[in-house]
Amino acid sequence: MSTEHDTDHIIGYTLDQRRYLNVTNRCTLRCRFCPKFNDDWVVRGYSMRIGQEPSVAAMIAAVGEPAQWEEVVFCGFGEPTLRLAEILAVAQAIRPQARRIRINTDGLANRVHGRDVTPELAGWIDALSISLNAQDAETYARWTRPRHEDDYDAMLDFTRRARQHVPEVVLTAIDGLEGIDIAACEAIAQSLGVGFRRRYLGRVG
Ligand code: SF4
Repeated sequence: MSTEHDTDHIIGYTLDQRRYLNVTNRCTLRCRFCPKFNDDWVVRGYSMRIGQEPSVAAMIAAVGEPAQWEEVVFCGFGEPTLRLAEILAVAQAIRPQARRIRINTDGLANRVHGRDVTPELAGWIDALSISLNAQDAETYARWTRPRHEDDYDAMLDFTRRARQHVPEVVLTAIDGLEGIDIAACEAIAQSLGVGFRRRYLGRVG
């Protein structure tokens, strides 16, 4: 079993009473600001590089007693919803005891899976933190290097749909990146009826 500082196969790590699960290193985007593209896989002393993606059983084991955490967060140096079936299986297993379950996502799950997956989150996921990243598609594309021209719109559509099924939906953007207008990002969140969180370059959590 992995330990918190097993640098090759870290699955779970703890920041501020929150238990983070490192679900995958695969990703739908290729963000220029992503530390992994600068060969920096270490977050607050934890290496995020995983040799093999953790099984459902390994992720449940990495949570341990769910009630001890303020929140269990599916994340990773990658996009957790690429493994939607697995993270929902974990969420269903820990749901009875978990105080709060969140997914950190780039909001492209519907595009990846070819269907609206947001109803599948209902009842299992308490919160979504979705990377808005930018106030318009052009700036978004410059920073995240998406595979499809309309990924920005797909992310916004995912956000609109998700808020009908997930109690707390928050859009995020990183302050400090050239060309990112935080006030405009916040206004987009408001117009969609979701929350907004400003993140800071180089700070993960
Ligand atoms: S979505 Fe996150 S993990 Fe994926 S490339 Fe962007 S910053 Fe990195």
